[in-house]
Amino acid sequence: MKMAQDVLNRYQRADKEKIMDQYPLCNLFEITPAEIEARYAFLAITAEDEANLVLLNQVIHDELDAIVAEFYDHLLQFEELRRFLGDRRTLERLQTAQKQYLLSLGQHANHLGYFENRLRIGITHERIGLRQKWFLGGHCILFEIISRRLAKRHGKQSTELLNQLASLKKFFTLDATLVVETYYQSTMQRLEAILQQLAEAQQHLEEVSRLDGLTQVDNRKFLMESLEMEWHRSKRFHRPFTLLLLDLDDFKQINDRHGHVFGDFVLKKAVQVMRKALRPADIIGRYGGEEFAIGLVETDLAHARQIADRIRLKIALTPFAYDNHKASITISVGLATMTPTQNQLEVLIEEADRALYQAKANGRNQVCVELPEHHSPA
Ligand code: GH3
Ligand code: MG
Ligand code: MG
Repeated sequence: MKMAQDVLNRYQRADKEKIMDQYPLCNLFEITPAEIEARYAFLAITAEDEANLVLLNQVIHDELDAIVAEFYDHLLQFEELRRFLGDRRTLERLQTAQKQYLLSLGQHANHLGYFENRLRIGITHERIGLRQKWFLGGHCILFEIISRRLAKRHGKQSTELLNQLASLKKFFTLDATLVVETYYQSTMQRLEAILQQLAEAQQHLEEVSRLDGLTQVDNRKFLMESLEMEWHRSKRFHRPFTLLLLDLDDFKQINDRHGHVFGDFVLKKAVQVMRKALRPADIIGRYGGEEFAIGLVETDLAHARQIADRIRLKIALTPFAYDNHKASITISVGLATMTPTQNQLEVLIEEADRALYQAKANGRNQVCVELPEHHSPA
């Protein structure tokens, strides 16, 4: 524990951040001297374990080549691992690293540097795509190989051997825990990145999608495009085209009285009623919050007026009931038709909007028409 205490004192005396800067991974994983102490305490690593390390290290040192050879013989039996171990040169490089790893086992293990090194090992293995099961399994095999060599030194089972094994196990566990944490952290990072991508994709989809999410009719952008196209087509072929703007009456009160969820339900249901009155070629879209636009193709003003009135009446007669809430809903409709003198869609919309305003001013729940006589030739 002495070394941990040294670091701790140094840590407390010096600027904490400066020291932690030297250990970026410890920083990332919130490994501080205090955290190291806590881990030591939990694994019950005592001065006796540190003393046991001396013999452990002796065994490892004396039999290093044999241990590593035996370990790799085991690993090489497995197809997936063979792919990671690569060619002879890679294998030699890995074995050298493995030897360094073994020689440093438990050496100054209560230092930030030890933890930094172990975290880096975890990250390296995770990055090359070695699955955790291989790493932890390999760790277990390594433990067994060293344990058996240790037992041979002792000649026969003894309390001393058990103590040695317990110490070995503790340092192995200390290391393995850190590796597991790096894998976990990387997985979380990947998940966060995926979630972020998903959110962006979702937003993109909504933007490019043509449907309004709530009511499933054309959204504003697509609605305007469709109206524009139909307006031009009707104009070119001298066909009648009539626009309806429909706005729910006193809808703010509906929301205030029954809540937004009920408000949403009303919007959806009102749209269903509107849709039933239309033919497939007609255009319907959400113009604004509780305002919808309908483009009636091949429809003159008189006929459109009938359709508008049918929709208005049907909505007024439909019971809107949802989850203990009940309300009567009415709509106001403004109507305008395309005329030969109209030079752009916006003019038609303005006219329908004026008619809608009139319907509201006249007391709501009605259809008003911007009559063609009102047009002053442009
Ligand atoms: P008017 O008869 O003059 O049209 O009155 P109004 O209350 O319907 O009109 P106003 O413009 O004052 O309020 C419209 C309300 O519609 C306010 C807004 O919160 C609500 N609204 C807009 N979009 C949605 C929506 O998607 N869901 C719900 N629940 N409410 C919405
Ligand atoms: Mg309204
Ligand atoms: Mg409105």
